[in-house]
Amino acid sequence: MKTALIQTALLACLCTAVAEDKGIMRFAFPKCSVVCIQDVAMRHPATLFSSVQPDSRVTPQGSYDSSVNVFLLEKDGGRYLIDAGNDARRGALRNRLNQLGVAPASVKGVFITHIHPDHVGGLLWEGKPLFTNATLYIAREEYESWRKDGARAALGAYLTPYASRLQLFEYGKTLPAGLLPIKRAGHTPGHTCFRVALADGKEALFVGDILHAVALQVPHPEFCAKYDANPAAAVTSRLEVFSSRLLLFGAHFPFPGCGSIAPSPDSPDGRFVYKQFSPKEKE
Ligand SMILES: [Zn+2]
Repeated sequence: MKTALIQTALLACLCTAVAEDKGIMRFAFPKCSVVCIQDVAMRHPATLFSSVQPDSRVTPQGSYDSSVNVFLLEKDGGRYLIDAGNDARRGALRNRLNQLGVAPASVKGVFITHIHPDHVGGLLWEGKPLFTNATLYIAREEYESWRKDGARAALGAYLTPYASRLQLFEYGKTLPAGLLPIKRAGHTPGHTCFRVALADGKEALFVGDILHAVALQVPHPEFCAKYDANPAAAVTSRLEVFSSRLLLFGAHFPFPGCGSIAPSPDSPDGRFVYKQFSPKEKE
């Protein structure tokens, strides 16, 4: 716990956070900036979740704060997105990029954590690629699993227009902007997290859909949203991410989508707690 807290505290000292506009928060680190862009604010009903332990004594209640977050990474002189949010009729990504003064044509690459509608929907605008110069990066294993999955076939509508700019990658091989893709399967068969350097010796992890309801699943990682294709594997991946002790950027963490997870010092059974990342905010 201590190490994780010290790491986060050090990073908080190295970072400035600026609320650029409603639903837009920029975290500036020595080696890059990460801008959290809220695509859609949402809450998840408790009925979405069930435990892989049938005898769980915890019953989810009410609803949980959630969000669809897209991350704009500015690194090594390039602009990249981690996921693309919902279809533009539902999501705010395109408008919020406008508010930021970021032309979609200036985005060099879009890294996809997995092929679900709230992660690839924003790739198009009026049926055409919104990011006209971007390479689309997807893990080969995720792409192959999607091709075999009839339930996700319709999502090809968002991927096909990028066919000539699609780059399938292997886990563990460094990608542009120094991103390191790591397999964390369960939510989908090829669900991918991306590791990024923020400062000397300090890294963060973009964790995609490792968590859908932070308030429930951090203290009770055995709970899975119905969207997890393989719940047992999703729990294993969740615990692997928790033990990374890195600063985490989550697609469904409450806005602004950034925090750390460590065992609670007050919990006799080592329950995890979430701490939202809060560097000093600049006016
Ligand atoms: Zn999602």
